[in-house]
Amino acid sequence: MKPIHAFVLAIAFTLTASCSKEPSTEATAVRADPSQHAAAAVKPGSHEDWCGEHEVPESMCTRCNPSLIAAFKATNDWCAEHSLPESQCLKCNPDLKIVRPPAGQ
Ligand SMILES: [Zn+2]
Ligand SMILES: [Zn+2]
Repeated sequence: MKPIHAFVLAIAFTLTASCSKEPSTEATAVRADPSQHAAAAVKPGSHEDWCGEHEVPESMCTRCNPSLIAAFKATNDWCAEHSLPESQCLKCNPDLKIVRPPAGQ
């Protein structure tokens, strides 16, 4: 009779969660130019309601105001790939034109 060997298989799954790539923050400091951004009191949809930095209405600028993101997601107007409202995502919609309302209204 041959001796019976008990094999204990210990399978260790080592999760290599070491791929936290951070976008290289370039030397350019985030310069928030107040002249490019609308004041909080402006009327949404007006000429003054404009984010010159991101070329969208300031009242709809998720990059300046991340708290707006939930509302866009709720209406399915959200591009998860680019973290932008689909209606503002020029990468997905190259023909998209977001036009600033004319002044003097
Ligand atoms: Zn903005
Ligand atoms: Zn997109």
